Amino acid sequence: MTQPLDLAGLGAGPFNLSIAALIDGLNRKGEQINSRFFDQKQAFSWHPGMLLPGVRMQTSYLKDLVTGIDPTSEYTFLNYLVEHKRFYQFLTAELSAVSRVEYADYLRWAAEKLPMIEYNSSIEAVDFKDNAFELHFTDGREPVKANNLCLGTGKRPYIPESVRPYLGGNVFHAIGIAQRDMSVEGLKVAIIGGGQTGAEVFENMIDQLWGKPASVHWVSRRANYEPLDETPFTNEFFTPQYVNEFYHLPESVKANIVASQKLASDGISPDTLKALYQKLYELSLQQDISHLDMRPNRELTDMNYQKGTHQITVQNGMNHQTETFDADVVILCTGFETALPSYLDGFSSRITTDENGQFELNRDFQVGWDGPQQNRIYAVNAGRHSHGIAEPQMSLMCWRSATIINSLLGKEVYNLKQAMNLVNWQQSQPQQTQAAPAQEALTA
Ligand SMILES: Cc1cc2nc3c(=O)[nH]c(=O)nc-3n(C[C@H](O)[C@H](O)[C@H](O)COP(=O)(O)OP(=O)(O)OC[C@H]3O[C@@H](n4cnc5c(N)ncnc54)[C@H](O)[C@@H]3O)c2cc1C
Repeated sequence: MTQPLDLAGLGAGPFNLSIAALIDGLNRKGEQINSRFFDQKQAFSWHPGMLLPGVRMQTSYLKDLVTGIDPTSEYTFLNYLVEHKRFYQFLTAELSAVSRVEYADYLRWAAEKLPMIEYNSSIEAVDFKDNAFELHFTDGREPVKANNLCLGTGKRPYIPESVRPYLGGNVFHAIGIAQRDMSVEGLKVAIIGGGQTGAEVFENMIDQLWGKPASVHWVSRRANYEPLDETPFTNEFFTPQYVNEFYHLPESVKANIVASQKLASDGISPDTLKALYQKLYELSLQQDISHLDMRPNRELTDMNYQKGTHQITVQNGMNHQTETFDADVVILCTGFETALPSYLDGFSSRITTDENGQFELNRDFQVGWDGPQQNRIYAVNAGRHSHGIAEPQMSLMCWRSATIINSLLGKEVYNLKQAMNLVNWQQSQPQQTQAAPAQEALTA
């Protein structure tokens, strides 16, 4: 009988890839961590449906899979550049932000080098039998056994309630927009959502990527088209020190803090805002641009379908009036939501969740469950409520991976102590810079 894996990764998006890359480095140094990561895709890709022309990263390329923890790893972005023989040109280009196309290619390059990633492996269910987890796959293959799991299957698109009955055809989430065969020639378009994706879709409407629309209404709930806050003290939220402070706060205050920090992670890149404004200005010198209708401070309240077109109703937050307009095509740039993945349906009664149905996560990203403590379930991209706004972002991805690996191995293979505290977040709080001690070592 084959031994259970030490760790099975569910999903091989960037967050689990980061764990795999660090594990691969440790195994080369003599650790023997037997891991496999399973993904339903046929090959690696990173949000390919949202790779619109010109889209750029919102985080530094140094916040890659490994650099913040192990800059000597072969999976760094810099090594990717060196292997592809474009290190000097990359530096000379002085890009303020790397294109998402290049970053996706970096992730693909790393994924292809990692020996423990298995594609065409769609997980259908999770079970616990004979002291090990069992992963069941949709193709009915032999289940895989593992002592520990790391859930990394991402989030699901958020669809507003009023839109759900009309989803399909010309009403869709932006998640697959770059791969759609679509034309908006002569059509009325509504873009719902005023974050980065909404801005990217609107910009491509101006550029007529999908033809010349009759009109474009761009609705944002926020008071304006608001910038991503990338200023220095805001960036302190994306440090291990801040997460350590945040984690220990009472649940009752965490949600308010996360809400108040929204623009630190969900605003529009200032470069995108500037490019948009300049395009609108220059276009307005040449033609009437009243068909490009920007409506900030509007909340979508209702949607209907009559006489072959959709009626969109929004509430204006400035004067509290109701406004309506027609749309033939409705593009939802409404972001993503956390939801328990369907493969946990038969297992969810064993997992501890809070009143909002979200995982109760330990500081070292372990999900609470009712089984043996030496069998652990970790989760990535699932702890915005518990660990703060850095969780769904790449900024602390490799620090979280190292935290999980220290916990998995029951020893400090990575020294996560940080030397610098520029901001005094809480006076009496003792510094929590190390991983919480694991109950038992992997091999125990
Ligand atoms: C368009 C876009 C741009 C972004 N840009 C940035 C940025 O610039 N900077 C930043 O910090 N963050 C960015 N983010 C946020 C975040 O970094 C990404 O969403 C990131 O991809 C999250 O990684 P993940 O591994 O959690 O999830 P995902 O990338 O969603 O990967 C999950 C994986 O799980 C697999 N999977 C799902 N279900 C199953 C199943 N049942 N069985 C097997 N496999 C399964 C999927 O195939 C997928 O490969 C961006 C997000 C989006 C959507």
